[in-house]
Formats: sequence, structure tokens, C-alpha cells
Amino acid sequence: MTVLPTAGSDADREMLAVALAEARAGLAEGGIPIGGALFAADGTLLGRGRNRRVQEDDPSIHGETDAFRKAGRQRSYRGTTMVTTLSPCWYCSGLIRQFGISRLVIGESQTFTGGHNWLAQDAGVEVVLLDDPDCVSMMTDFIAARPDVWNEDIGVD
Ligand SMILES: [Zn+2]
Repeated sequence: MTVLPTAGSDADREMLAVALAEARAGLAEGGIPIGGALFAADGTLLGRGRNRRVQEDDPSIHGETDAFRKAGRQRSYRGTTMVTTLSPCWYCSGLIRQFGISRLVIGESQTFTGGHNWLAQDAGVEVVLLDDPDCVSMMTDFIAARPDVWNEDIGVD
């Protein structure tokens, strides 16, 4: 199953704006511009974060894991939505699967495709793939400017 891009709902795009603001903050810090946010079923923001590999010298801090940790303990993840500016890598796809996060909203997957098709097909996650031009241009510019850091982040030698 290949998830095709859609326009998404207004609510999905509003949630993406939170993740995008995190990505831009990361870029301003000299980091990799990928942001994430976790929302409750009723739309309440639970946590937001960004890739901080460069800032914290920590390869385990991705946009999604940062948002997840900032959300603290949740009794259940049923109904929650993880939003990320970029298709989640396998590490973050595993997190979504492990904790039973119900929905995933993605800004774009043109510049990188991680595990979102697997999540949709094999993990029962509702995946909404947007094709947000701001997310695309931000990653395209970053990859062109810092290919070394980008390849490090995605584990390419
Ligand atoms: Zn990741």
C-alpha cells in the first residue's frame, strides 16, 4: 500500500503548523529542520519538539521522539495524532507502532520516505500524507546546504 498525498483537513494543517514552527526553530539553532507534535483525540496539544541531533549531540532526539517525550506519560495513545514535517524514519515509525498512536499526519515525503507506508498497511495507523510546499522547500534547502549532516541523520555512509 502506498499512501498518496491529500490536501488534508483544516485541523490536520493546523497541527502541521505546530510541527513546522518546531522545525524552523531547529533550523534557527543550526539543527536539522524536522519538527513533530503529539495531539490528543480532542485536538489538545500534548507535546511538541524537534530534531536536536546537532544541538544536543544526541542522535536519538528526532522531532517525533522529542514531542513524544515532552508529552510525558499517557495512559493510552488511542486516538492520538502524531504530526511530523517529514515522513517518519524507521526509529520513529517503530515508536508510533509500539505505543499504538492512532493517526499520523506528515508534511511531506518527497525528500525522504521512512516507514509510513508500513504503518498504514501493517500497523493499522491512519496516515494522512500532505504535500506541504514549505516543508518540501525547507528540507530541500537543508539537504543541499548540509548533505553531511543529513546523511548522518538518515544513517547513510
Ligand atoms: Zn525519526
